[in-house]
Amino acid sequence: MTIYLNGKFMPLEEAYVPVLDRGFIFGDGVYEVIPVYSSRPFRLTEHLKRLQSSLDGIRLTNPHSEAEWTELVNEMIACNEEKDQYIYLHITRGVARRDHAFPQPPVAATVFLMSSPLLYPPAALIETGVSAITTIDNRWLHCDIKSISLLPNVLLRQQAVDAGCAEAILIRQGKDDTDSFMTEGSASNIFLVKNGILLAPPKNNLMLPGITYDVILELAAANNIPFQVRKISKQEIFNADELLLTSSPKEVLPITTVDGKQVGNGKPGDMFKLLHDLYQNFKREVMRQP
Ligand code: PLP
Repeated sequence: MTIYLNGKFMPLEEAYVPVLDRGFIFGDGVYEVIPVYSSRPFRLTEHLKRLQSSLDGIRLTNPHSEAEWTELVNEMIACNEEKDQYIYLHITRGVARRDHAFPQPPVAATVFLMSSPLLYPPAALIETGVSAITTIDNRWLHCDIKSISLLPNVLLRQQAVDAGCAEAILIRQGKDDTDSFMTEGSASNIFLVKNGILLAPPKNNLMLPGITYDVILELAAANNIPFQVRKISKQEIFNADELLLTSSPKEVLPITTVDGKQVGNGKPGDMFKLLHDLYQNFKREVMRQP
């Protein structure tokens, strides 16, 4: 497997990062995950824009221009035979003596890219849906930054796995349940459907602005699907007709059980089927464009 590290493509086995890298010591860095279909990166401009916003959020200068990133991503894609892959792109504040404050003068950022085969969710999951738990969103107040410091997400996702579930739906706690609201999943965005209306939580500092989330809302708008972007209370989750999960690798999946209870009739609903088909068509269209 070939990876890219700090200016060179090399075999994975030869790639090493010094132990004083601030990514290793502090989790001081950001990342992106870019799906690649038919050897073409999907929504690259949008991913690079979000990368810039994450870098701005941690006050780290972007080591590359958009043109340079595009070239790197395409070279990384070309290193691999699989036509469908995902590119993992990771930047840290570089290697310096251990001190919380930024190194002065700044040191070169560490830049790492790798490609992995894109594993689509098995057809059975699309047929039956996945199960989720709800749990308290105990992360920080900058969840819009795609930070490599993922320990809270790791622990939340493990709570779901321990409960035999695929995802944890995160709830920011208010004074009581009526005041508590859904933010996102531990590694996905979450949509709700009620009475034929698609509901999405608003993008803010408490959730990652998902690239797939945007595609879903664009598809809803373009296809006259009624939707609202608004705060979604914890109670609404348990009264939903449908719950949907979105992310670049998982695309869109139905959540059919939450906290052990059926969502709606416990089967993937009409909104899911419609959005799933629209998403697949959209991908095909994009890939056909020159
Ligand atoms: N929210 C979190 C916390 C995530 O980790 C992810 C993806 O990894 C998403 C949302 C979905 O983002 P995207 O659609 O860009 O993959």
